[in-house]
Amino acid sequence: MSHRLTVIGTGYLGATHAACMADLGFEVLGLDVDEEKIARLSAGDLPVYEPGLEPVLRRGLETGRLRFTTSYEEVAEFGDVHFLCVGTPQKAGEYAADMTYVDGAVASLAPLLERPCLVVGKSTVPVGTAARLGEALAKAAPAGGDAVLAWNPEFLREGFAVQDTMHPDRIVAGLPADPGAAEHAEKVLREVYRTMIAEGTPFITADFPTAELVKVSANAFLATKISFINAMAEVCEAAHADVTKLSEALSYDDRIGGKFLGPGLGFGGGCLPKDIRAFMARAGELGADQALTFLREVDEINIRRRIRMVDLARQLLGGSFAGRTVGVLGAAFKPNSDDVRDSPALDVAASIRAQGARVTVYDPQAMRNARRAQPTLEYGESAMSAVQDAHAVLLLTEWAEFRDMNPATVAGVVAERNIVDGRNALDPERWRAAGWNYRALGRP
Ligand code: NAD
Repeated sequence: MSHRLTVIGTGYLGATHAACMADLGFEVLGLDVDEEKIARLSAGDLPVYEPGLEPVLRRGLETGRLRFTTSYEEVAEFGDVHFLCVGTPQKAGEYAADMTYVDGAVASLAPLLERPCLVVGKSTVPVGTAARLGEALAKAAPAGGDAVLAWNPEFLREGFAVQDTMHPDRIVAGLPADPGAAEHAEKVLREVYRTMIAEGTPFITADFPTAELVKVSANAFLATKISFINAMAEVCEAAHADVTKLSEALSYDDRIGGKFLGPGLGFGGGCLPKDIRAFMARAGELGADQALTFLREVDEINIRRRIRMVDLARQLLGGSFAGRTVGVLGAAFKPNSDDVRDSPALDVAASIRAQGARVTVYDPQAMRNARRAQPTLEYGESAMSAVQDAHAVLLLTEWAEFRDMNPATVAGVVAERNIVDGRNALDPERWRAAGWNYRALGRP
């Protein structure tokens, strides 16, 4: 049976999910409250940078299987399965997640659900949300028990969103307590994800709280792994050891593995930082705060890397930023993304500017978002123009374009050959051989 799908919230997650589901042959209707986003998506113009997604979007539009709207009435009328993909950012001034958008989406949709359907939450939410929303849905939906809720957390990585959606590591299906509703929800989800299941993707059913916890605990683990190696970097700095060698040697141990073990400026973005904080806040509400006190340390280690980066740059410049020019390479929180939410690179750039330097930033894809987030920084049109006349160059996001830079060419435009490699992305020997004063996090 082919279901008609809707996707509510068409940001990084929703736009990807909608386009990929249409590519798999489903009829899909995407909805967002942001009219400009919907106009752009409808025109085949992806509002975010995500490698490989635009052709999938365009294919969906051309076949007529993929459409976009701002009308909840249209969505309620159209959909057999509604995917909730709205944002759950950190609340201002608190650790907890802001549930305004999720609650708002359910409040808009539920009263319009005149026919049987499955509502599937994909947003990352505090444990307990699905049970709460299940009740809200049952109360508000006119079809009564015919609108069933499931929770299907999403694990995609920006930069690999299409690949991760089409070939996920696993599918987690959080099912309601009522056995009849659970059986129905599982059947529908297995039909929606049949292509992935046929490829051998593990399909794991769980109760609501377990499904919600899989997502946040996965992010807690990944953040911990990054902060672990960055804590080792701090020790390496004190002991004059090389954390990149340490990390390489650790990575050959199968029990440890090399992924998420790259020492550097640490994690950022719209997920890991806010997810670990929301997880701590929720555990506190549940009386289990002690279980997650280590995450506070993980967060602090991560933030200390940014401070260390600024200190290293200041040191290189003789102890003060006043009147100095700094060229910053990278604004996105990671390469192959235009996402600057909680970006370590922009954070460092802003902090150095606040300490009196003239800072010029360049990023291959994140310029628009960076300008909006940090309008007082200066921006260059290219890597070379950002580092023009710089007394120090900081590599803060490891785009391939920066890794491949020729140290001799860069030397030709700067005022002084000082570079801090915030991502351990460059070959120190090569840069030193070209006369550069090369410094990096966690290395002598
Ligand atoms: P985003 O900010 O890019 O997109 C959210 C979208 O929801 C926006 O376009 C916004 O306009 C829209 N929206 C807000 N309120 C709405 C409403 N009431 N009705 C309809 N649309 C509404 O966020 P994102 O990065 O796509 O993240 C969405 C969720 O997915 C979050 O919970 C996030 O934690 C989770 N997630 C994100 C990723 C990722 O890599 N970005 C990966 C896994 C999970």
